[in-house]
Amino acid sequence: MRALLLAALLAEPAAAAEPDWAALGKDATRVTAELIRLDTSNPPGNEILAAEYLKGALEAEGIAGDILTSTGTRSSFVARLKGDGSARPLLHICHTDVVPANGAGWTVDPFAAVEKDGLLYGRGAADIKSMCGAQLVVLRELKRRNIALKRDVIFLAQADEESGEPDRHAVWLAAHHWGELDAEYGVNEGGSTLWEGGRIARLDLQCAEKRYVDLKLVARGTPGHASIPNATNPVHALSRAVARLSEWAPPFETSELAVQTVRSAAAPGPAALREAAAGLTGKDAKASAAKVAKLAPELGALLRDTCAATVFKAGYKSNVVPADAEADVNCRLLPGRDLNAFLTELRAVLAEPSVSVKYLGPPLDAIPAMPFDGPFVEALKSAAAEAAPGAPVSAFLSPWSTDAEVFRARGVKVYGIDPPLRPEDKDRAHGNDERLPVAGMEPYTRLLYLLTVKLAARD
Ligand SMILES: [Zn+2]
Repeated sequence: MRALLLAALLAEPAAAAEPDWAALGKDATRVTAELIRLDTSNPPGNEILAAEYLKGALEAEGIAGDILTSTGTRSSFVARLKGDGSARPLLHICHTDVVPANGAGWTVDPFAAVEKDGLLYGRGAADIKSMCGAQLVVLRELKRRNIALKRDVIFLAQADEESGEPDRHAVWLAAHHWGELDAEYGVNEGGSTLWEGGRIARLDLQCAEKRYVDLKLVARGTPGHASIPNATNPVHALSRAVARLSEWAPPFETSELAVQTVRSAAAPGPAALREAAAGLTGKDAKASAAKVAKLAPELGALLRDTCAATVFKAGYKSNVVPADAEADVNCRLLPGRDLNAFLTELRAVLAEPSVSVKYLGPPLDAIPAMPFDGPFVEALKSAAAEAAPGAPVSAFLSPWSTDAEVFRARGVKVYGIDPPLRPEDKDRAHGNDERLPVAGMEPYTRLLYLLTVKLAARD
């Protein structure tokens, strides 16, 4: 019996050698380049091009997938590797649409995927077709190596992330296809991975993001002749409300995640900023936060809610008082903030009874920050030790928002892990000459593969 058991054990295929990481990185780069050449500028998106490409690429590997179309060419692609069901799924998310790129300001064709001096140029190279490329290769590799899984591994390449509209495709996906997407953990964009000296130098894991909220302020009054004083003039009322908004200073909040994020961003900065960041947990935390906000407004934004008036519309003729006036206000709320409580506070700040504040989106649940511990974070740290040795892994609150909230609101623990970018290229994601270091694709693909195996493979 014992001998038989031993024989059976020996008959198991020997643990195959490690994947060829260089080959995986090359493949992920090739897929990224092919995706860049499909013009999925949003609007209009045409993400069906990417969905069909990904479907074909995975079908060739024996992995079936579905194209999920909401309207016209607005299509996502979803595929799944089955596990034994003993743990809930892991969902890999990326988006296939990109912001528009007109050639002006670019030194290369933004849709040609030109490679030069070790950099891959193109719209979507950094945001975020490279992630789709790496995830596709991860799925393919799991299948080729026949890795036994305890949880399903799902790949969702979604449409319409860049629209930011309340009724965007991700909201439709969640409403109509939740059964295909529900998962325990998710990997999405939104983090920050630093490429320096030919290696991943640090890995900021996005655990929460500020929430994007569009509001419309509408003032209503009685229209009339401009020669007669008019106490209900909506242009005046709206101006007063927006002036109060501009002076509003929402209280600073120094959550552990925000403080950690500010401190690591401030570390390479000037001494005054480092000192202010160090004070965020002391007895003068609020005063330190005010200093941070003054020295680095982009870091101050992580410590409080913010609002900016962005569009002002009123009147049609210089001698007529109009019946109404409107302003668009874009707010970014801290994780966990209750939207209704925030709106109540905002109305009190505006203090104009004739000005209504409308939130046009779907109801929003408060979304807390993801924990920086537990199986996902342990698996990531362990994967990073192999794929990015020496790189610190930190919890990160992003001032920008992604579609993660759609999934987090339904209970998926979603974390953001971005492809490695050089510091000088970080701002190019929606700008000119968007690019990423080709050499970074190998450790990035390796990282996502190892994370997936550690989290989803059967012991
Ligand atoms: Zn993106």
